[in-house]
Amino acid sequence: MRRVPVESRVATYGRQTVAGRTRTVHRIRAERALGKALPEKAIVHHADGSTRDDAPLVICQDDAYHKLLHVRMRVVRAGADPNTHRFCASCNSAKPFSDFNKCSADKSTGLFAICRSCHRITCRSYARNFTSAIKASRNIERIEKQ
Ligand SMILES: [Zn+2]
Ligand SMILES: [Zn+2]
Repeated sequence: MRRVPVESRVATYGRQTVAGRTRTVHRIRAERALGKALPEKAIVHHADGSTRDDAPLVICQDDAYHKLLHVRMRVVRAGADPNTHRFCASCNSAKPFSDFNKCSADKSTGLFAICRSCHRITCRSYARNFTSAIKASRNIERIEKQ
């Protein structure tokens, strides 16, 4: 599978063509400030959450760090402390870290994106959907065998 560059996935940012290469304005600005090409894994973050060409920028070393900034921004916007709270994407509120199960797959916080009480609900509905998906695929098999 071909790797899609981050720039082409994001259509809402301003673009500029320099030396025949069209790139997003924020990456060009970040490289100018850095004085050299951005490191391979670097992600340029818009500190004010906007997509404006003149937004204050933060160069993140990798995607995990960038995600962490967004996780923390959401907690701050919800009026809580990002050092003790995490934003639950399901109930849309900031909750203390102790309300989240640990998740080693999340490289930025080590916690699940949804809180414990929401997680229970989601797991149950996931199980339900999964069962109906299995039933549906069995039906398809039966039809195909006929
Ligand atoms: Zn960002
Ligand atoms: Zn929740």
